[in-house]
Amino acid sequence: MSNYVEMWKDLGMDLDTHDLLCQVLPTAFGDVYLSQQNRPEGMGFWDFVVSEIHGIRPAELIEAQKNGQKVFGTFCVYVPDEVVIAANGIVTGLCGGSQFWVPGGEKVLPKSTCPLIKASVGARLDRTCPFFRIADMYVGETTCDGKKKAWEILAQDVPMYIMDIPQMKREKDIQKWAEEIEAFAKVVEDFTGNKITVEKLNEAIKTINEKRKAMARVFNATKGKVIPISGKDRLLMTQIAFFDDPTRCAQMCNKLADELDQRVKDGVSVFPEGTKRILLTGTPMAIPNWKLHHIIETSGGAVVCEEMCTGTRYFENLVDECQTTLEGQFRALSERYMKNNCACFTPNTGRIDDIVRLAREYQVDGVIDVNLKFCCLYDTEGYTVEKALKEAGIPVLGIETDYTDTDAEQLRTRIGAFIEILG
Ligand code: SF4
Ligand code: SF4
Repeated sequence: MSNYVEMWKDLGMDLDTHDLLCQVLPTAFGDVYLSQQNRPEGMGFWDFVVSEIHGIRPAELIEAQKNGQKVFGTFCVYVPDEVVIAANGIVTGLCGGSQFWVPGGEKVLPKSTCPLIKASVGARLDRTCPFFRIADMYVGETTCDGKKKAWEILAQDVPMYIMDIPQMKREKDIQKWAEEIEAFAKVVEDFTGNKITVEKLNEAIKTINEKRKAMARVFNATKGKVIPISGKDRLLMTQIAFFDDPTRCAQMCNKLADELDQRVKDGVSVFPEGTKRILLTGTPMAIPNWKLHHIIETSGGAVVCEEMCTGTRYFENLVDECQTTLEGQFRALSERYMKNNCACFTPNTGRIDDIVRLAREYQVDGVIDVNLKFCCLYDTEGYTVEKALKEAGIPVLGIETDYTDTDAEQLRTRIGAFIEILG
């Protein structure tokens, strides 16, 4: 990635510290990813993206900025990409998934903040991630308390817009979210200088729906007995979907899905027979958080599905494409986005139903409910998740972890023991 040094300098990055990150990432990726056998050829695209992770897409974004486009950085699957795209803007996910950025976040946040928030703030303030430098505007949301307070700190350093998310899912909440989306659309119009029209928003809705459908095809491929792709590889595809161009993302996912469908027909599995099928549920896994998938898939398990924001919540449910007014479109967007089931909502029974449904659809042997340390919301909801799964007769293991490797051996022992008793 050395070709990009001038670009990183122009972005005002701390090059010495950034070099340290560039040194460790290839080894980590090699150990976790390239050590796998018989991977689908289609994964070559995502391997390439990782090899150039701080180079190729940032360079594209900068080029787009030179042509007058604005880049919006987001942190949550409730923020509607469609609105930004309709104004000829670009969305890039900004959630931090590496321990590398956590100490930077701890300089300004309590240690008892979840690692995802600390890493996201650290990546910005330490100037060690090009995506955090490039984004012209950050878009936050009022999901959890940690994020709400973190936005106030980030707002001292970068233009920040906050969407006020409802905490319940009544009719008036869906209407309120539609109004929030409309208000966001006005901000996006002012910031980009581009008007959002019914036609442009409809086109953007179709673009993101196509991306969702393509991602769903990849996930569907692991519903049967043959498992043509590892959970690790599918996770990588999902993580990169948050910051890739949506049309290219759909093309690459469809290409991968074609290959997976063929593998299923040919009986090509990446796991030996008898490998236990695991559904992961819980807090999101931002790139490069591959820790749990790696432990599970080197302990006799295969992650066949994730009920997470870096999983089914990102692509399930399409936005209605038939609306003919902006008002109708904002409402349609709200209806789709409010089907996401984040633990910040009360009650959040839709998530419990989803977990049980997905466990059956993907024919899993067991569920692992993972919580990022200090995420009070998902931690508390774990009680209900585990109770519902036990009632449904589905084995479940609840675990809590962070981005460090200090608990890796302990997790390996617990997960190994859980997998051993399955089936
Ligand atoms: S877990 Fe909740 S707050 Fe986090 S990305 Fe998902 S929806 Fe947003
Ligand atoms: S994992 Fe939990 S604490 Fe962390 S950002 Fe998401 S909802 Fe907030």
